[in-house]
Amino acid sequence: MKIVINGVTIEAVQADITREQVDAIVNAANSSLLGGGGVDGAIHRAGGPAILEDCYRIRERQGGCPTGEAVITTAGNLPARHVIHTVGPVWNGGDQLEPDLLRHCYIHCLQLADEHKLTSISFPNISTGIYGYPKPEAAEIAVSVVQQYAETGNGSLEQIRFVCFDGDNLALYEQQLEQAKSSI
Ligand code: ADP
Repeated sequence: MKIVINGVTIEAVQADITREQVDAIVNAANSSLLGGGGVDGAIHRAGGPAILEDCYRIRERQGGCPTGEAVITTAGNLPARHVIHTVGPVWNGGDQLEPDLLRHCYIHCLQLADEHKLTSISFPNISTGIYGYPKPEAAEIAVSVVQQYAETGNGSLEQIRFVCFDGDNLALYEQQLEQAKSSI
């Protein structure tokens, strides 16, 4: 499923994000930046030690990454050129600023991509694994931020991919993209 807004292609696919050949893949990291399970573990395993070395340098400089923020590193041995690490909120019922924090993750990743003049980016379904964010609400936030980015029309990204690991998320993203398409 693919839509085009203002020359920006936005698509949802079911795939392994470590295989993506794009300027940057996004990692759903934790604030320590020292690696974890889920997509974080898969990215570090496939990318090799260079990613963690960059993460250590960032920790020395700024002491990790707060929830809702993002940092950029090499992608090591991955086919992508960079990894943008963002820290999604842990779901605690929804009244602990989770929606704002998740929105900020997507916004900060897109800002970093612009700062580095990247043209393609792949997002995983941030916070919807171990962090327990409800998938439908997370998909709605992700698509609305990206749609707004494309509508604003002054960013460097030309291709934005939502790389879903499970079929539930793929169906939810396809639904959100259909809705976005009908509102163009
Ligand atoms: P969080 O702690 O932010 O919830 P997780 O890594 O547990 O992060 O999950 C985030 C999402 O990434 C989940 O939807 C999970 O299914 C997905 N995921 C796990 N491994 C991969 C992978 N190799 N490629 C793409 N998505 C993945």
